[in-house]
Amino acid sequence: MTQTANGSVESATEAAAEIETFESIDPRTGEVVGRHLIHDAAAVEAAVREARQAQASWADLGFTGRKRRLDAWRKLLVRRLDELATLICAETGKPLDDARLELVLVVDHLHWAAANAEKVLRRRKVPSGLLMANHQSSVEYVPLGVVGVIGPWNYPAFTPMGSIAYALAAGNAVVFKPSELTPGVGEWLASSFAEAVPEHPVFKVVTGFGETGAALCKAGVDKVAFTGSTATAKRVMATCAESLTPVLLECGGKDALVVDSDADLTAAAEAAVWGAMANAGQTCIGVERVYVVDSVADEFLKRVTDLAGKLRPGGEPQAAFGPITMASQVDIIRNHLEDALEQGGKALVGGRHSVRPPFVEPVVLTDVPEDSPAVTEETFGPTIVVQRVSDVDEAIARANNTCYGLGGTVFSRSRGMELARRLRTGMVAVNSVIAFAAVPALPFGGVGDSGFGRIHGAEGLREFARPQAIARARFSLPINPMTFTRSRGTVRTLVRMVRLLRGR
Ligand code: NDP
Repeated sequence: MTQTANGSVESATEAAAEIETFESIDPRTGEVVGRHLIHDAAAVEAAVREARQAQASWADLGFTGRKRRLDAWRKLLVRRLDELATLICAETGKPLDDARLELVLVVDHLHWAAANAEKVLRRRKVPSGLLMANHQSSVEYVPLGVVGVIGPWNYPAFTPMGSIAYALAAGNAVVFKPSELTPGVGEWLASSFAEAVPEHPVFKVVTGFGETGAALCKAGVDKVAFTGSTATAKRVMATCAESLTPVLLECGGKDALVVDSDADLTAAAEAAVWGAMANAGQTCIGVERVYVVDSVADEFLKRVTDLAGKLRPGGEPQAAFGPITMASQVDIIRNHLEDALEQGGKALVGGRHSVRPPFVEPVVLTDVPEDSPAVTEETFGPTIVVQRVSDVDEAIARANNTCYGLGGTVFSRSRGMELARRLRTGMVAVNSVIAFAAVPALPFGGVGDSGFGRIHGAEGLREFARPQAIARARFSLPINPMTFTRSRGTVRTLVRMVRLLRGR
């Protein structure tokens, strides 16, 4: 196998024989952005093998050595931020400033992971307890080996880097399978790492379709970190179950925003519209539902409709948001809209005519039955369902009435924290939106159909390491129950001690 200039892996057989490739396409124009290899099972296995060979010396570098190299990569990413942002725009269609914002977050997370890995993962002492007082006990988080990362297209740099940066900082090698819609971004990330850290080929990319991802699950990696839809996550987990490969699953959501009667309505409306429409609503933690307390609903809805009504999608840099990146999603958005309207929902902004592939204009719906797919299923478009509720308890109950549980938002002046804690989600923003994703120290992940495991933060570092516990005997105790030469009274003495110390 050989590593190509762009960091992807090419086998000798592929090079010699017919090379199977596919194209990535600009969803705004239909133009070809790039051509990429379809990595088959043999190529994926070879990438994992090579990553494994390189991993040992990466782990041996220790935290300081790895930090130095990850910092070099981060500086390169900052220097060439606009180059990568332009490629993200071309493969996803999102406006340039949105791509730049995505990369600002990537850089901040990479910095945090490299800077904090030692503090979180290094060996630390834990108390041995009275019964084992002759031992010194400690825990260290050691690298797993090779982590397979499978990513989606909606945030093609930020989303996978939540696993890649943290896995590398923890001492692992990574083999990354980007979405078939954004392979160029994946290759760019790997080749920039290879440029900044040429002596440690621990970050490889394999491109292709779902079969390439499935091959990665079967290639003997030590963990699979998957981000994508719940349906694919189930397939990934089933494949990984065959080899007991552990999985981290970051899946979809149907996040709700709750507006309390004392909320700052201007801020809440801005947050709702940004959370729902930014990136054309193609955000796993985007706002898809709003529950607003009746007493402030009219005023809130006016602000939301004013704001959303002004937004225009397009392919030009000043557009509010870009196209629907994955063509098949347009049908899902259309179906959710039509069903909601047929069941009595009202469109306050937009309507059926808003779906103009590849673009979808903003749609604000209200009074939609709670069992409609627009309320229960991930729409992933620039649409929002705003529902009136009698009080904030009803808002929380309805927000929680979902199989998902990724993020959530609460706007309340007096009870923000209390309401946030009542949401059954992995993350909540209070009086802001999506803020938790931008705080590198906060763990990111969901419950229920939104998946399990965490990226980001200390939990995100530990996700890519195995705790190794060591108990070291420092001296012998007069009584030792764990020997065949113990006296008859040893255990009885211990039982007496436990009764005295722990029985009360
Ligand atoms: P998909 O589930 O379609 O694909 C995700 C990745 O899995 C892609 O790289 C895909 O490859 C790959 N894949 C497909 N089939 C298999 C298989 N059988 N085995 C292994 N891998 C496979 O998701 P999307 O790319 O459409 O992303 C959108 C989804 O991602 C939304 O549901 C969104 O909510 C979720 N998401 C979740 C986030 C989170 O952090 N919780 C963040 C961002 C998005 P290919 O593209 O080639 O088919």
